[in-house]
Amino acid sequence: MKFGGTSVAGAEQIKRAAGRIVAAREAGNRVVAVLSARGKTTDELVAQAHEISARPVAREMDMLLSTGERISCALCAMAIHDMGHEAISLTGSQAGIVTDSSHTKARIIDVRADRIRQALEQDRIVLVAGFQGVSTASRDVTTLGRGGSDTTAVALAAALHAGVCEIYTDVSGVYSADPRIVPDARKLAVVSFEEMLEMAASGARVLQLRSVEYARNHGVRIHCRSSFEDGPGTLVVSEEETMEQPFVTAVTHSDAEARVTLTGVRDEPGVAGRIFTALAEANVNVDVIIQNEPVGDDQLADLSFTVDRDDLPTAQDEIAKLGDIAVRIRAVDQIGKVSIVGAGMRSHPGVAAKVFQVLGEEGINIEMISTSPIKISCVIAADRVADAVRALHAAFELGADAVRPEDAAGSDHTSTVAG
Ligand code: ADP
Ligand code: ASP
Ligand code: MG
Repeated sequence: MKFGGTSVAGAEQIKRAAGRIVAAREAGNRVVAVLSARGKTTDELVAQAHEISARPVAREMDMLLSTGERISCALCAMAIHDMGHEAISLTGSQAGIVTDSSHTKARIIDVRADRIRQALEQDRIVLVAGFQGVSTASRDVTTLGRGGSDTTAVALAAALHAGVCEIYTDVSGVYSADPRIVPDARKLAVVSFEEMLEMAASGARVLQLRSVEYARNHGVRIHCRSSFEDGPGTLVVSEEETMEQPFVTAVTHSDAEARVTLTGVRDEPGVAGRIFTALAEANVNVDVIIQNEPVGDDQLADLSFTVDRDDLPTAQDEIAKLGDIAVRIRAVDQIGKVSIVGAGMRSHPGVAAKVFQVLGEEGINIEMISTSPIKISCVIAADRVADAVRALHAAFELGADAVRPEDAAGSDHTSTVAG
């Protein structure tokens, strides 16, 4: 069971999470629960670091950020004790979460869960601090990137061969769009790993991208549900298990990206390789890339790409280190992106055309486009993102009123957004 930040925000919520954990134990399960930092704790810790330093050292950032989830676990263990059960809280390191040493974005490379197994054998409920691990190479504390508690939970579920990995959050499951932007978004009863990967990669932060990757690679069943109400939630399963493939499943968005444009890039083999190798080695994820045809007597090209806004300073440093690779380098730190995702898109022509037409009718200019077989993303002005999401959601008829075969299974449409 994993509880996100809103689900452990105050004393009441921690007791409620403890109650759910105890109920699962009393129903005869052995329970490992992963907790996130309370409420906005991680944001506050990040802000504290930036009050001290413009570019905080990554190792120390991890020492700082990893404290948030430890607080939640210790408090929840106290609550469980008061309910008459034995509980033990563990840091990521104590729980055996072994990572590489890329601070603030570490990857889990091994889970050595003996200590958890031992505690379960002793009939204890185990609480594990999410979002963190330890690098065996450097023996330092690492964190797994924002939203990383989801990945802790999935990795532990895989290592312990858990029946299911339940992700308790502040919405009732995975929706056809962020329910905070589209009030009539429809809760999806099931979603395939492939679609969920594209959704997470394009901004649906309900599950961290790496947690979905990990679950797909290790065959972990994810059940995403509300920590505030009982309901069927959303199952993330393999594509064969999904009953239907609507051609569009969801509209996602992101407003946490930035764009870098290099003008006057020499048009010769190897230049793009040098740029993107430098970015990859610095662990910067690049999303949309556009290079235009070289023009002018010098045959110089323009190259633009998007990165996570948090990575912009690193990306700029890396490009600067390459010397005279371009005549001019510009960065815009506020860009918006809207995407539509759907496995059925593979076999339906015309989806892209409709997306562009809908955005055009809304008067929204498309600055960049990228596609995968099951996703179309458009970079647009940040202040038009919400309009774009609502327009596309309506145009593709994704709302709760649309009737679909799996609804016969009885998913509830009455759930509301808590928090
Ligand atoms: P937690 O703290 O529980 O990990 P997050 O804030 O990381 O929760 O993720 C849940 C949030 O994800 C929701 O409150 C919702 O606003 C947002 N979200 C974005 N897109 C979606 C979507 N397609 N379905 C559900 N939630 C979404
Ligand atoms: N507390 C971390 C964050 O806010 C990790 C998580 O909540 O999953 O990103
Ligand atoms: Mg999260």
